[in-house]
Amino acid sequence: MNAPTSLPVSMPIPGHIDPVPVPRPVTPREDGRTDLIGLPRPQIATLFQDAGLDAKAAKLRAKQVFHWLYHRGVTEFEAMTDIAKTMRPWLAERFVIGRPDVVEAQVSTDGTRKWLLRTADGHDFEMVFIPDADRGTLCVSSQVGCTLNCRFCHTGTMKLVRNLTPGEIVGQVMLARDALGEWPKGSMASAADDLDLDEDEGSYTADGRLLTNIVMMGMGEPLYNFDNVRDALKLVMDGDGLALSKRRITLSTAGVVPMMARAGEEIGVNLAVSLHAVTKDVRDEIVPINRKFGLEELLQACADYPGASNARRITFEYVMLKDRNDSDDDARELVRLIKQYKLPAKVNLIPFNPWPGAPYECSTPERVKRFAEIVFEAGISAPVRTPRGRDIDAACGQLKTAAERRSRAEMDRLAAEKQAALG
Ligand code: SF4
Repeated sequence: MNAPTSLPVSMPIPGHIDPVPVPRPVTPREDGRTDLIGLPRPQIATLFQDAGLDAKAAKLRAKQVFHWLYHRGVTEFEAMTDIAKTMRPWLAERFVIGRPDVVEAQVSTDGTRKWLLRTADGHDFEMVFIPDADRGTLCVSSQVGCTLNCRFCHTGTMKLVRNLTPGEIVGQVMLARDALGEWPKGSMASAADDLDLDEDEGSYTADGRLLTNIVMMGMGEPLYNFDNVRDALKLVMDGDGLALSKRRITLSTAGVVPMMARAGEEIGVNLAVSLHAVTKDVRDEIVPINRKFGLEELLQACADYPGASNARRITFEYVMLKDRNDSDDDARELVRLIKQYKLPAKVNLIPFNPWPGAPYECSTPERVKRFAEIVFEAGISAPVRTPRGRDIDAACGQLKTAAERRSRAEMDRLAAEKQAALG
């Protein structure tokens, strides 16, 4: 059995500094223009009306522009061919179609791609694309840094800088589609064919698509940035735009219990929970938000999650940490809890991807295998995730730190050069 470990005194108590979601004001940029990405259609129409169009024209233009932004992925108003030629410069003078800046892009030998992105105010965050045989999953960030200090997570060692805006969240999906070359080409008439729309779901099918799934599992706790994540995902799901089905989107929480029901009702995507331990002592250590919202509360919130069923199971993420959470007893307790709360569940077993200074080691492959067998023999799906992108620091938060390390080294080098020149 795992022995409880005391936590460092300096570790902040999670939840004491819950970031308050602030509605995003429409702020013009320094050049006075407004970025349209991240704004819902009615807000675009209001902006057009404020800029001088009458209500009817503003609504029509907003519909056209929205389609070009999210369905076709254009980044220039000039490319919007069904909008009058004279109208395009009018739009370009007042508005822009933004994307996060790319600081660095890496491709792993296994095809995993990772981007270090930068907000307009200079904060770095990450995005990862993981291609598989039958799907391509984009792992999207919701915050720069995180308040939650999960001990196995590298991002948890960084302070929260700020919440990402809806534009910065949906902008990651847009950027990934840019990079993957996935926007439909050709005339407006052929757009629906180009997009391979699934008539029943109003969404993409996986056939021929690279980016088929989204997981809100990058930097940050999405339920501590609820409004912005909801607004961004509504844009991702909008049938006139990116049109990704809610069945292909998963929101992962460390266990912000009071927001889980709202997530189910207002967003309605699949739920994943960073469980990682099945006893209070160990989960308090590994996922410290457990000290605020305990296991029983969390599992009850999972049982009550709107829309969960055998067809849409809740995923429990379980990182395998040597001698901390990987015993046979842990596996049996996991099964017992899932059965006690009658959860339609699937368990993802994740071999720990260590980062420099990490306080844990990965369980041995034999231990992971045995753990998986115990859960699987109880009738619960328990796939072991293959580690991806190990050659490119793909564990969350690593690329940002690597870039900062490099820039510090760069600064040291410049300082040394300056010193030498003065000397
Ligand atoms: S696992 Fe998620 S919630 Fe926990 S510290 Fe890392 S980014 Fe934050």
